[in-house]
Amino acid sequence: TKFTDLGLNQSVLRAVEEGGYETMTPIQQQAIPAVMDDKDLIAIAQTGTGKTAAFSLPLIQKLLSGEGKRTPKAARALILAPTRELAIQISENIHAYSKYLHLKTTLIYGGAGAKPQIKAMTAGVDILIATPGRLLDLMNQRHVDLGNVEYLVLDEADRMLDMGFIRDIQKIIAQLPKTRQTLLFSATMPKSVEKLANSILRNPLRIEV
Ligand code: AMP
Repeated sequence: TKFTDLGLNQSVLRAVEEGGYETMTPIQQQAIPAVMDDKDLIAIAQTGTGKTAAFSLPLIQKLLSGEGKRTPKAARALILAPTRELAIQISENIHAYSKYLHLKTTLIYGGAGAKPQIKAMTAGVDILIATPGRLLDLMNQRHVDLGNVEYLVLDEADRMLDMGFIRDIQKIIAQLPKTRQTLLFSATMPKSVEKLANSILRNPLRIEV
């Protein structure tokens, strides 16, 4: 399959093409149709495999149906990442893929002032990309509402658990609607990640590249 066979919006395809992407990587070949098909996913993939586009492109496409659902403090998609660097990188990729669209993406991470992050949430956001600790802080202070989340992505799940985020992640996920699509990406699949996956994914498709 090619990018043009996936049922992606013309604006997304144009951005992908302008990014110089010609053929899909193996993870994209397997993940994108499954995500478009509403499946939960557990993907074992390293950085450099094209995993960011594998979850971002179908996510962007799905958010396009239901535009106008944006409400203050609430996100429709939540992407959890272990570090601020990775969160920023994901955000840059999503901005590139959605440059011809009107989706709103916001970042929440520690080690920087919370005020601008709080302000950015007030108008509502389509895609919230966050590190677990700061997100939980802002949730506890009622600056973020996760009651509208339709899509959850955990990126580099093994690294998030290595960094001690398991309890934060569990508390965050407890606030999400039960009916949602969940995608979990991890470079390795130790018992701890397997256990988390079993507790949050519904009949997932398993992909290994
Ligand atoms: P990632 O594994 O998501 O960190 O992506 C690694 C790099 O590959 C990034 O610079 C992407 O922009 C690039 N990339 C992702 N998918 C493709 C593709 N299908 N063709 C060419 N480059 C890609």
